[in-house]
Amino acid sequence: MDISEGVKTYAKTANGMMAAGTFRVIAGPCTVESYEQFEASAKAVRRAGFEYVRGGAFKPRTSPYSFQGLGEEGLKILSEVSGSLGLKVVTEVMDPYDIEMVMEHAEILQIGARNMANFSLLKRVGAAIAGTDHGAVLKRGLSATVEEWLLAAEYITAAGGDNVVLCERGIRTFEPSTRFTLDLSAVIVAKRLTDLPVIVDPSHAAGRRDLVVPLSKAAVAAEADGLMVESHYVPREALCDGEQALEVETLLSLKEALQPFASAMGRHII
Ligand code: PEP
Ligand code: MN
Repeated sequence: MDISEGVKTYAKTANGMMAAGTFRVIAGPCTVESYEQFEASAKAVRRAGFEYVRGGAFKPRTSPYSFQGLGEEGLKILSEVSGSLGLKVVTEVMDPYDIEMVMEHAEILQIGARNMANFSLLKRVGAAIAGTDHGAVLKRGLSATVEEWLLAAEYITAAGGDNVVLCERGIRTFEPSTRFTLDLSAVIVAKRLTDLPVIVDPSHAAGRRDLVVPLSKAAVAAEADGLMVESHYVPREALCDGEQALEVETLLSLKEALQPFASAMGRHII
């Protein structure tokens, strides 16, 4: 099936999250753990010069015994802290019943890799953000093809939500040295097939913080429109994904580290 025609009809996403000539960085902890933890991590995102902070209140954990997130309390922390720092929020929504509540506290709704093919969630998110200033970040499924990923995005756009950003976050391969394998070919292929912006999450792809900056540079060179990276004010104390979280110092120097690559691509990092 040739999907390029259908997908191509959608224009660049609206509402200023992604603008031409820019490279958008979203950073923040995997999970909102407490007010203090999120505030300290979000302040570092602000100091690093970025406008969007991430943090999960509803976490899709592999084990049901792992910390599942603070839920509504986490959402309140997200909006309170981001409001006082002038940051915008990206956070995951896992359940259609929570969409409205999540929209009260966050500008951008993340649909996680494990929910990429949850078509009823995609339709509900599309309908909910239609005609609003809200947007959606759609992670690529762990074993989804580019075609499946783009068609999942179409579930959102077809339901009226046109402010959609695709996010490559690594796929499952036989390679055990990284948590997943960052598929930068998919970024380039997706960008040829759709006008939707494509960002890269090197944190979940690598699973190790030492690879995050090099992969981020590669993402810029691969024509990505932005990044989503995990960062934490004390990674070793993180309740989730601490091994892949950037330390504050690295986050603060990220813009500078990426700028030569962004300049070569004609982009300004925001
Ligand atoms: C996340 O962003 O914290 C997350 C769980 O990502 P993914 O859905 O890509 O695993
Ligand atoms: Mn995470």
